[in-house]
Amino acid sequence: MDLEKFMNDLEKKHPGEMEYLQAVREVLETLEDVLQENPQFETAGILKRIVEPDRIFTFKVPWVDDNGNVNVNLGYRVQFNNAIGPYKGGLRFHPSVNLSILKFLGFEQIFKNSLTTLPMGGGKGGSDFDPKGKSDGEVMRFCQSFMLELWPAIGPDTDVPAGDIGVGGREIGFLFGAYKKLAREHTGVLTGKGINWGGSLVRPEATGYGATYFAEEMLKTKNTSYAGKNVCISGFGNVAWGAARKVTELGGKVLTISGPDGYIYDPDGISGDKIDYMLELRASNQDIVKPYSYEFPGAQFVAGKRPWEVKCDVAMPCATQNELHKEDAEILVKNGVMCVAEGANMPSTPEAVEVFQRNKILFGPGKAVNAGGVATSGLEMSQNSMKLNWVAEEVDSRLHQIMKSIHEACVLNGTEEDGYVNYVKGANVAGFLKVANAMMDQGVI
Ligand code: NDP
Repeated sequence: MDLEKFMNDLEKKHPGEMEYLQAVREVLETLEDVLQENPQFETAGILKRIVEPDRIFTFKVPWVDDNGNVNVNLGYRVQFNNAIGPYKGGLRFHPSVNLSILKFLGFEQIFKNSLTTLPMGGGKGGSDFDPKGKSDGEVMRFCQSFMLELWPAIGPDTDVPAGDIGVGGREIGFLFGAYKKLAREHTGVLTGKGINWGGSLVRPEATGYGATYFAEEMLKTKNTSYAGKNVCISGFGNVAWGAARKVTELGGKVLTISGPDGYIYDPDGISGDKIDYMLELRASNQDIVKPYSYEFPGAQFVAGKRPWEVKCDVAMPCATQNELHKEDAEILVKNGVMCVAEGANMPSTPEAVEVFQRNKILFGPGKAVNAGGVATSGLEMSQNSMKLNWVAEEVDSRLHQIMKSIHEACVLNGTEEDGYVNYVKGANVAGFLKVANAMMDQGVI
């Protein structure tokens, strides 16, 4: 396959969709061997078909704020690929949301979901609505208006959205309430639900826990573990929170967390009641990072900087896309980082990934490392179908096992001649093969 020609043609069709084009290129670059070994994929137009979503819904979301003003946001759902199961992927509410970002996330989701070994296709959605600083009433009215448009397109066997940036338990509750009213049924149409109405134990912490389990497997390949390691985490959202808890439990010390304005450096480690304190701040809709340094005087707030300048053994970017640049990667390598595990989706730029791989650093891409979130959503769907609830230990042990299998699949498909595991290639190849073979079986459709 001529990658440059393929990408040029795609760019002509979707000009300016930078994040989407970046994600497609990153996957296709690693599939060269697979495509050569499987010429039938080219004949069946698998690549041409897999890079285009099955369909995209775009709609307006009008809502009234507490002052009686009418606001209009844009809503989207990208149903990307359902070859191996119903569309599955989160909803993101953030002012930066646009179609390119949702298409990049939906595309990545296809391979991530395939890696989990569970029957889930890929999708993603969201809105440019910003829940930050909004009252519960405003968020509820927005969610109800959003669902008024979305509900006919989703269903427990069709498309099962979940949370993502800006969509947590509160938003899922309002979205579910609206769906239930409109569809007149109580089904597992969303995941991340409350524990009393169909949710799964361990779902809130699953992405961070899963990321840490995956990184632990990476460290094992070097005969080491988290015990005694210094760890830099970015963000302090859902993913970063779970990662901070599990890293601490496994004996690592979390030195940093961050927000858009800067990062916290706490040389004593961010653990226990400090994590609880951050959760309180988060729940109260306040600025999260800065107050931490007032509450815990040993900690320092570094304004306008990213945490990657702090010397660490393991780096876990858990905030957002393209938040770790080439220069950050160079500093991390210079400071002796041995493992970089992406809790967020595509947080490292392609140039940063290149630096890690050239220096033979253990580098785990988001689609493998953070797959624990959607995997546990898959476990929530299974519990909903069976109409029962597993205890926390059962969910956690299944999650742990899934993360180990994803790691094994990456090693199997990504080990290079010199023994270096290219986790990016491993994850892409393993995720792609299952979906491509399913598409072959199902004909051109
Ligand atoms: P949250 O909204 O809960 O948290 C995001 C965090 O990142 C917040 O602390 C936010 O700070 C911070 N942040 C946002 N922008 C920046 C920036 N430019 N620099 C530094 N920090 C920033 O989202 P999630 O934790 O759910 O998601 C984080 C990432 O993980 C995303 O890439 C998401 O797609 C991915 N992911 C999430 C899954 C999940 O289960 N939730 C599953 C798989 C992947 P502030 O709140 O102050 O804006």
